[in-house]
Amino acid sequence: MAYKYFKYPARYAVFQDEDHACTICKQTKTCLETTPFYSEDDIDAICEDCLKGGRLSEIGACANDADVEQLFDQLEALFPDKKIEELLKEAKAKTDEIELRTPPLVSWQEWKFPAIDGDYCQFVCFASKQDYNKLAADGDGKKLLTESIIEELHEFTDVDAIWRTLPDKQIKTVALSNNFPMLVYLFKSLHSEKYVTVWDIC
Ligand SMILES: [Zn+2]
Repeated sequence: MAYKYFKYPARYAVFQDEDHACTICKQTKTCLETTPFYSEDDIDAICEDCLKGGRLSEIGACANDADVEQLFDQLEALFPDKKIEELLKEAKAKTDEIELRTPPLVSWQEWKFPAIDGDYCQFVCFASKQDYNKLAADGDGKKLLTESIIEELHEFTDVDAIWRTLPDKQIKTVALSNNFPMLVYLFKSLHSEKYVTVWDIC
């Protein structure tokens, strides 16, 4: 299934090995692993139809924690003439898409799904040196890493150490992401060629 904010769900969303009865629709089929979801009650399995259909709200669950404050600040700066109610409505629609209709990102630390250019970013991959080198307009992957790290992490970031720790080759599946003590998440703007990086350690 295709998701606006999650580029490669088949590679990086976590699916259960066997078919399960979905907690929401009760049908037995391929379901997502529920550990990464936010929920007060126990949930066993969530199918993609229910996720895509926004039905997580029926069980009070949530797939991601979106950085709505950051999004709203960007929208206000981009559209100073729009009414606050209009901006709030736009922010809510985008936030619902991330929180209720996008597969959860696997992460060790709790951080919010980042926004850029007045929209949420699209999650591209668990990054490697290869990804940055390939995506950098001038081929300088380390420079792209440096420029793309989210502001909140600047004071904790040692770019040289992160670059050294990055795997050389692409991490092609979410299962392989378990092999690393640190994960670097690469996001892209849906509206420009800008990239956004978040890193976390287990
Ligand atoms: Zn379902």
